Amino acid sequence: MAKIGINIATGSLQQKEMIVGIDLGTTNSLVAIIHPESRKPVVLKEHDGNALVPSVIHFGESGIITIGNEARDNLITEPQNTIFSVKRLMGKSYNDVREYADFFTYKVIDDDTESLVKVQVGDKFYSPIDLSALILKELKTRAEHILKTSVTKAVITVPAYFNDAQRQATRDAGRLAGLDVLRIVNEPTAASLAYGLGLDKEEVKTIAVYDLGGGTFDISVLRISGGIFEVLSTHGDTYLGGDDFDRAIVQHWSASLGITKDELSLHKNLLQELRMIAEKAKKYLSSNNSFTGTVAGQEVELTKRELEQLAQTFIEKTIQCCQHALKDAQLTTAGIDEIIMVGGSTRMPLVKKMVTDFFGKHVHDTLNPDEVVALGAAVQADILAGNNKDFLLLDITPLSLGIETMGGLMDVLIPRNSKIPSRAARQYTTQKDGQGQIRISVYQGERDLVKDNRKLAEFSLKGIPGMPAGFPKVEISFLVNADGILVVKAKELRSGVEQSIEVKPQYGLTDEEVERMLLDSITHAREDMQMRSLTEARTEASQLLYMTRQFIEKNSSFITAAELCDTRHGMFELENLLENGDKDQVQAAIEKLNEISRPFAERLMDQAIAVAMKGKQL
Ligand code: ADP
Ligand code: MG
Repeated sequence: MAKIGINIATGSLQQKEMIVGIDLGTTNSLVAIIHPESRKPVVLKEHDGNALVPSVIHFGESGIITIGNEARDNLITEPQNTIFSVKRLMGKSYNDVREYADFFTYKVIDDDTESLVKVQVGDKFYSPIDLSALILKELKTRAEHILKTSVTKAVITVPAYFNDAQRQATRDAGRLAGLDVLRIVNEPTAASLAYGLGLDKEEVKTIAVYDLGGGTFDISVLRISGGIFEVLSTHGDTYLGGDDFDRAIVQHWSASLGITKDELSLHKNLLQELRMIAEKAKKYLSSNNSFTGTVAGQEVELTKRELEQLAQTFIEKTIQCCQHALKDAQLTTAGIDEIIMVGGSTRMPLVKKMVTDFFGKHVHDTLNPDEVVALGAAVQADILAGNNKDFLLLDITPLSLGIETMGGLMDVLIPRNSKIPSRAARQYTTQKDGQGQIRISVYQGERDLVKDNRKLAEFSLKGIPGMPAGFPKVEISFLVNADGILVVKAKELRSGVEQSIEVKPQYGLTDEEVERMLLDSITHAREDMQMRSLTEARTEASQLLYMTRQFIEKNSSFITAAELCDTRHGMFELENLLENGDKDQVQAAIEKLNEISRPFAERLMDQAIAVAMKGKQL
């Protein structure tokens, strides 16, 4: 078994620099800090008193990018250039979002594979990481403007159910935006911290966090004891939120104005305009009894009662989710000590009422529900900064640990700043048919290419039985034990072959070296990520060429001459770009070849190909 000594930096976080808390939301994002004098968490506001930045990006003519409210105005006029809900795409493949393809009014690339989704705007391709980085960069700039100091360190929140890949994607986005992401914190944990729950070491409590945002609903049941949060269960609906209320209002108004569904889908602009006014009405009715406005010259009205009738079934659905979450946590409502309301949509009185009735208890709603997550992130940031003397910093991994994947890329299994002990496992697969062994190279560091990181160990998993490429499931697990020793294991799950590895212990790094490696990763973030996306595009391209070649060989008699000719041409173009094309060119050629081959591939879809090629290749 491998034993690698790692230098554990416990106090490497600088004391005085400000660390901000960021809520990177599906609908809205914002930044909070601990106020240096009052020592209370506060959100950062623009002159207009606005803290929320809509998570919307608009790509304008001549490359001008706007983010926030200004970008949001373009949802009506330029849906194809206006990106919203990026968070839903983080760490997802097209297959993951296929079901909701209609939801996105911009172009999400359908490449029919398990690789991560991309968004196409004009002739450029963006990963969800690129897009989230644009939002984070905007938040960073705004924060620097307000605070009049540079902001380089942050805590970013994610939903409790975010998996490893989604968390890593969020970290990468932060790095790309020039932020050193000290920790990824669960949103419900942050919300609890904002209410001061979990700050008392003696406290043992069970908390339900009800989060109804713009497009998503999450219920999380947490247990805190000894200042440690444990997620007992999560439930929710990733396509249920305030937007549904808006849509219901739109339908209601359309009916009364005599606008048909077909007309609405034809006149996207009218639809978007209706949605904007519907949201305005909804918000207004959280503190008033009736609303009047105009849409396209016509008057529209809505009363609080009408809105509640429209929203009722949606809210009932959230209550059912709460029931599920309690059941999963093996609890009844009586076992819940505190209920926290999170998300802008919980401002609606009916939501508060139904949640209070369900739990039979008062809910925490004194903090602004759309700010509470960011406020809690600031509390966590302050603890990490070492400002909160009641909190001991736990031992952490000073640098990320991962392995090399196709194209010399670093795939992080245990991100830096993970608490020790820490464990992680991920599945990989082979590149070639009948491949009997794979090499596993273990690295430490923050850069995207392993060549820029520090190699810790290398070993081979041998004796994998012959299978087609993409079939073997090789699980690599990392364990950093309480002494800071890294144990790496590799196991092929279908056959059970497992390999013990022999690696020499590594010498430790000094704090200065760690610091330098971190700095390098921020300075080189852009070029690193560009290199990563180019490498990923190339890998995808070679994979597609390999599959297409095999496919037409096997099925030549079922493909028409014209199809064959087009395919060869597409392959030829892609091959030519493979070496020298940039990321967008390669991606465009992949798209094109996919378009050409899709009709006959679908016609002849070979199951083996469908199931193959899952998981990153080593
Ligand atoms: P997310 O966490 O999804 O990014 P937020 O927590 O900011 O989003 O919630 C956004 C949602 O809250 C939107 O649907 C918005 O219309 C809704 N919202 C904001 N204020 C109110 C209000 N006063 N009454 C009802 N809904 C509101
Ligand atoms: Mg939120």
